[in-house]
Amino acid sequence: MAEAASGRTEEEFQDLLRRLELALDASQIGVWQHNVNEAELLWDPQMHKLYGTGMSDRKVPSDVWMNALHPEDLERAGKDFQAALDSRSFYNSQFRIILPNKEVRYLRSRAHFYEDLDGSPSFIGAEWDVTADVLLNRELISQKAIAEARAVALEQSRARIEYAADHDYLTGLPNRRYLDRRLAELRKDPSVETLAVLHIDLDGFKEINDKWGHAAGDATLQSAAARISAAITANDIVSRVGGDEFVTVLFNVGSDEKLQTIAEDILSRLRREVRFGNEMLRIGASIGVAFSPSSSAGNLLAESDIALFQAKKLGRNRVEFFTPELQADLHAERRLADQLRLAPVLRQIEPFYQIQVDARSRCIVGLEALARWRHPDKGLLNPAAFLKVAEEYGLTAEIDAAVLRRALADRAAWVSQGLAPPRIAVNISGRRLADPDLIEGLRALRIPRRVIAFELVETIFLDDPDDRVLANIAAIKEMGIDIEIDDFGSGHASLIGLVKLKPKRLKIDRQLVTAVTVSEEQRRLVASIVDIARALNVEVIAEGVETEEHARILAEVGCDELQGYAIGYPSPEGEIAAQLKSAQAQSRGRSVAASVGRVTGSAKRRSNRS
Ligand code: C2E
Ligand code: MG
Ligand code: MG
Repeated sequence: MAEAASGRTEEEFQDLLRRLELALDASQIGVWQHNVNEAELLWDPQMHKLYGTGMSDRKVPSDVWMNALHPEDLERAGKDFQAALDSRSFYNSQFRIILPNKEVRYLRSRAHFYEDLDGSPSFIGAEWDVTADVLLNRELISQKAIAEARAVALEQSRARIEYAADHDYLTGLPNRRYLDRRLAELRKDPSVETLAVLHIDLDGFKEINDKWGHAAGDATLQSAAARISAAITANDIVSRVGGDEFVTVLFNVGSDEKLQTIAEDILSRLRREVRFGNEMLRIGASIGVAFSPSSSAGNLLAESDIALFQAKKLGRNRVEFFTPELQADLHAERRLADQLRLAPVLRQIEPFYQIQVDARSRCIVGLEALARWRHPDKGLLNPAAFLKVAEEYGLTAEIDAAVLRRALADRAAWVSQGLAPPRIAVNISGRRLADPDLIEGLRALRIPRRVIAFELVETIFLDDPDDRVLANIAAIKEMGIDIEIDDFGSGHASLIGLVKLKPKRLKIDRQLVTAVTVSEEQRRLVASIVDIARALNVEVIAEGVETEEHARILAEVGCDELQGYAIGYPSPEGEIAAQLKSAQAQSRGRSVAASVGRVTGSAKRRSNRS
């Protein structure tokens, strides 16, 4: 029948069968057959090997197969078979079996549906071991998952590094690096029409750090960061660019007024107290604003910084906008500061002297040395032209020192000319008074006792002076240098300060002095200052004595000494030397009071009017 069907000879058929058996044996593929209506299977020897039955019977109860199946795969394998049966088509499944030695193997099974001679539904199929493939595949999948997880971790750490490079660890805000990059991007962004930069600097932050420690400083910065962020939209940028400096970039805000409102809002948020433990910390802020169309926004950061400088200069706790005039002023100011820094070294700072006389005898009892700057282009400058800049740029101490050195040198020259110069008062700034090296520097000058007095010009500190200032003042007194309080009554120095400081003298401010000729009340005020000073054993000098009438009244109310245009204008060294000489000569002859009066009268006409 086979011969007829295939058209082959028996010999050819046997040969084909042998080759097929060899191929199956080599491939280790088992062949099975199953008549669905019967509870047994037909297995070839290779099937027995696959299932490790140790048998070779061609007929096998279907239980043998069922029992070998892995319990977890039983249901699915059954379903696969049922599906093939229902559709009377191809069977394709993969499942695990458990060998008698408990080893688990993966088998792949494929079969064709057919009906046998009596019409029973049957399958004939092949089965082979795919354990190695499955395990390899599983290994590949797990390797792939590991590689993917590694890539994710790598990406995360790259992002973390990038984030750290762009952000401030304390507040979590972007830093300067990020800000510069974003600003450059925004300038090129066609959807950005205007850009505004708000430069915010906290006022009073250093004090919090000094007084409450760094943890309090950190808490303040974190709270400031949160408050600024809350005041702007999520699109805007806020970054921390330095210790207590923040920069906010806003785009397409529209108008100056709107910006002003936003800046004021930030200010008021920052002014609210910050809770730190049981303490409530108080800070403020200064804000500089620069605003421009994005196309010309190249200098916004620098411009906002200039505006900020101006806000601080005008007393802090305020908002200032950048203007080109501001920049020009600042430029001129910086140039002046640069020149002023060199001025003491180039001997351009020199003292003018203003005579102080005894209120009754009108004898010369003192000189006040007042700084003048011989500017190479601008000529002789009064303190009004340079002291503010000096203070802003921290140059006052150098100027004070230069004036003192020159005054000591002038005094030595006068002495060598046979003159007997009176004590010289020099002005000393708060900055110099707080200088830890001040005393050592003074000692090096070998100042004779009782010839120099220091006028404290920034008496603001006197109510709450720090320890260094107090120690320096004590050391100055010990060196035989008098302490005087300048501008007393101008609002800075208080009585408490006076009691604490125990100065040698106080100088009643010109404002109070001027009015004594017109107001009885003012006269009584000056008189009571004199009384208090007396009680404290402090001498009194009246400043700004402009007329003879002033001089008379001030002497009447008890002032010890007088200084002012009525007595003499501030004058250069040469003129003062001449005055001292003639005063000295005349005092040998006639009454001292009369001679001093004549000398100062002529000096008034000659001297530089300041
Ligand atoms: P001050 O120490 O109160 O000096 C008195 C100022 O009043 C001087 O101005 C003086 O020229 C002026 N003055 C004197 N008599 C009269 C008068 O009768 N009428 C009027 N209207 N003014 C009179 P100056 O020299 O321009 O100095 C101004 C301020 O600059 C000084 O006020 C002082 O605070 C400060 N200063 C001057 N030299 C120095 C210095 O070497 N170091 C420091 N730190 N400050 C100085
Ligand atoms: Mg003075
Ligand atoms: Mg004064």
